[in-house]
Amino acid sequence: MEITLLGVHNLESANTRLVSILVDGVVAIDAGCITSALTFKEQQKLEAILLTHRHFDHIRDLATLGLGNVLSNIPWGTKKLYSLASVFEALGSHIMNGVMYPDLTRLPSPEAPSFKTVLLEPYILKTVSGYKVLPVLVNHGVPTVGYEITDGDGKSFFFSADTTKGLSGAWEYISSPQFLIIETTFPNSMMDSAIAVGHLTPALLKDELISFKEVKGYLPPTIVVHINPLYEEKIGKEIQQVSQDLDAEIQLGFEGMKLVI
Ligand SMILES: [Zn+2]
Ligand SMILES: [Zn+2]
Repeated sequence: MEITLLGVHNLESANTRLVSILVDGVVAIDAGCITSALTFKEQQKLEAILLTHRHFDHIRDLATLGLGNVLSNIPWGTKKLYSLASVFEALGSHIMNGVMYPDLTRLPSPEAPSFKTVLLEPYILKTVSGYKVLPVLVNHGVPTVGYEITDGDGKSFFFSADTTKGLSGAWEYISSPQFLIIETTFPNSMMDSAIAVGHLTPALLKDELISFKEVKGYLPPTIVVHINPLYEEKIGKEIQQVSQDLDAEIQLGFEGMKLVI
């Protein structure tokens, strides 16, 4: 399985992209940059998009992806969107509502639309394009799921989505992933506001990783995403310290980073 981190930040600029993770070119997790980071050919290849929650930075590029299909001279075929009911409700009422953007679950035609929505139940395994997908609830103020993705060889990784402390509640549900991809949005000095708005700092991440090791007996390489670029240097130094303290491989992700398992 080849995992590409298309975007690893929570703010967009010429040098930073919003969160999206690509699995073998066919499944994407979150839609922060699935049009801005992919060619039309690559967009066309996508079969399914798993959405973690309804916040704009995670669903944004669905609109532009779906319109690409509507306007293409060779229609791309219907892509499946997998998520919680609250995500589809927000998309339907606020974005693809015929005011902000067309309803791409009915266009270019109701028989062959750009998107078909598939509802996920937390903790219930779903097969998506040949991968086993386990959605696990995390703490983020709005309904949010992290995902463990397992390929046909039994190799897996876990993505936390946006979350604050209490991620340890997920460990008993997931298997033994080869990688963890976990958000760390703010530096340690902003711990109170991080918790208030549902995010992690390096010190909070450390607690979650300690609990992972207690439950699982090992600590896989961990990649940090959803980084606030304004504090990236500080977060990077603090992550380095956590890595030393835990004697574990923990590093900041970057746009275009590839993980092969
Ligand atoms: Zn969020
Ligand atoms: Zn976010």
